[in-house]
Amino acid sequence: MINDHIQQQINKGKMLPLMEEFYTIQGEGFHSGKAAYFIRIGGCDVGCHWCDVKESWNAELHPPTKTDAIVENVKKYTKTVVVTGGEPLMWNLDYITNSLQKNKIKTHIETSGAYELTGKWDWICLSPKKTKLPLKTIYPKANELKIIIVTKNDFKFAEKQAGKVASNCELFLQPEWSKREIMIPLIVAYVMKNPQWKISLQTHKYLNIP
Ligand code: SF4
Repeated sequence: MINDHIQQQINKGKMLPLMEEFYTIQGEGFHSGKAAYFIRIGGCDVGCHWCDVKESWNAELHPPTKTDAIVENVKKYTKTVVVTGGEPLMWNLDYITNSLQKNKIKTHIETSGAYELTGKWDWICLSPKKTKLPLKTIYPKANELKIIIVTKNDFKFAEKQAGKVASNCELFLQPEWSKREIMIPLIVAYVMKNPQWKISLQTHKYLNIP
């Protein structure tokens, strides 16, 4: 049970339901291949059937953790943080991004965009999901649009979403891991025909790192 004091701390972003934190290599998208400290926050109600972190969905399973303690851990490792989930925007991220930026740490987020944007971000990776579309306000702020390709129909979805982001937003198509063998040839052909898109692969899974 979360008492009133803890709930207040969560509301202010001074505590977050931390699922895991780890130093690794960003495997996906624009910053693929770069070292980064990952902060995975619990809680998600977007409901992608292919989700590979379903254990993140129930926030109650992830203990409220002091944000200051998380920032102290980051400081031991690197200058780039990726805040992910779950859906991290279910929580107030103003406090954590202020603290990180004060320490000259770059703040990146991976989000479905289904909740209001909080926090100050050096990089926003927007990965829209059909089950709970992004709020209109986040599209122009996205630095990177990452569409997960599960079926052929997702190319149409990708184009619709690309029509909503800024003209300088980086566009990525990424095969859903369990469908990669079927979808990679289609994505390759699509990107060759539509070179405004790039391919993103989950390289951390090939490298066998978290
Ligand atoms: Fe999983 Fe992300 Fe979809 Fe939530 S938005 S269900 S965490 S893939």
